[in-house]
Amino acid sequence: MNRKVGVIVLQRVTAAILMRDGKVFIAKRKANGLLAGKWEFPGGKIEKGESPEECLKREMREEFHIEVSVGAFFGESIYHYEHGAIHLLAYYVQWEKGEFRPLVHDEFKWVPVAELKEYGFAPADIPLAEKLMKVLGG
Ligand code: C5P
Repeated sequence: MNRKVGVIVLQRVTAAILMRDGKVFIAKRKANGLLAGKWEFPGGKIEKGESPEECLKREMREEFHIEVSVGAFFGESIYHYEHGAIHLLAYYVQWEKGEFRPLVHDEFKWVPVAELKEYGFAPADIPLAEKLMKVLGG
């Protein structure tokens, strides 16, 4: 359920931390639209009645045509965008099957964790990228 904090409603959004061979999966948002061209840990809005795990499975299927399983909670961030405030919840996910296809993003990449600082992330994702560099960046 989204949280109402005074008059502010925090939209709950998931993000996937997907690792392979020491690299992490990131995706670039479309050149037009919200946060155009910014990189993110992919995910999306948690729908009514959905768990974060169910949301991540759905989003990864809708956005990349892959099936994932969802593991441990990684971290969170709250960010007040002009278009609304979000509570971003990141989980480790694991690829299960399917060939990666970017159905919504302009591009995706596997990036060594230590190189995340070279990418322009969506503001809500920056604390997650920093945490990942701290815990896994060598
Ligand atoms: O992707 P979508 O537009 O559904 O995301 C919902 C909201 O969460 C938007 O405000 C988007 O900018 C934000 N978001 C984010 N970082 C992510 C995923 C979504 O800041 N990794």
